[in-house]
Amino acid sequence: MARTCIYCGGGPLNREHALPDWLKGNTPHVGDLRDYEVTRGLVGGPTKTLDSNPYELKVRAVCGNCNHGWMSDLEQTTKPWLLPLLHQKDRELPPFALALIAAWVFKTYRMMALANRAPNERDPVPHEHDRVLYEQGVPPSAASVFIGNSILSPYRPLFRPGWHPDVILWRPDEPPFDKASGPSSIQGDIYGATLGIGHFVAEVVGNTFDGGLTLLNIQPASMIADRMIRIWPIAAGIGPGGPVVWPPPPLSDDEVFATAAGLMEWFRALPLSPDHVRERHPPKGLQ
Ligand SMILES: [Zn+2]
Repeated sequence: MARTCIYCGGGPLNREHALPDWLKGNTPHVGDLRDYEVTRGLVGGPTKTLDSNPYELKVRAVCGNCNHGWMSDLEQTTKPWLLPLLHQKDRELPPFALALIAAWVFKTYRMMALANRAPNERDPVPHEHDRVLYEQGVPPSAASVFIGNSILSPYRPLFRPGWHPDVILWRPDEPPFDKASGPSSIQGDIYGATLGIGHFVAEVVGNTFDGGLTLLNIQPASMIADRMIRIWPIAAGIGPGGPVVWPPPPLSDDEVFATAAGLMEWFRALPLSPDHVRERHPPKGLQ
């Protein structure tokens, strides 16, 4: 665990709830909140069901100044926009609200990932990516954020982090062994998670290629592409391009779980042949 705040680099660190307190009393759920499932580490790796209430989960990763300062402000400004999504209410979400929600999703992903991390597990997210959120109030451009609407089921809250270390992307326009034209491949980690709270589902898909590439053509599997809405990063012609009318048609549980298990699949949508996405040590269960 980091000894200094992942955002400002200061200290001392406080033990804080990984999920904000206001969610606890404002989120619909069915079933027993203690049946809380987390897939640790690599996708396809061991699944652990925590016998605890996820709203009681704590993490020691940020300082009191951050927690009670900008992070608290982010909760308060995002809460009115998130509440209708948690409850599947009709709402129009303007672009500034989508940017707030993207920041909230990335922050919550980080808190949940660090709270669920095994003691010796490496943190796949570079310090620089957290600094972007701290300094600019938005997720790093190397992390894409998609949101959707799901049916309510006992599997909420749901958190499934995943990461793939040492993924090699071959540049498709350069033969792998053509040294004259520069490096033919870049290497990095892919990180992310699926987060499901109430009716709200979010997916974070980040990378550290060359420190973190802005990959605007990452996309969900085609079966859910029309229902998962990109809210970060957005650019001309990429993303909603205006207000989003909520809710989109709901995802089934099977679709949410398929999204959670398929982190690498998002990268197969890049204009690379499947052969161009390779791994040194393919995680068990990937193929
Ligand atoms: Zn701090």
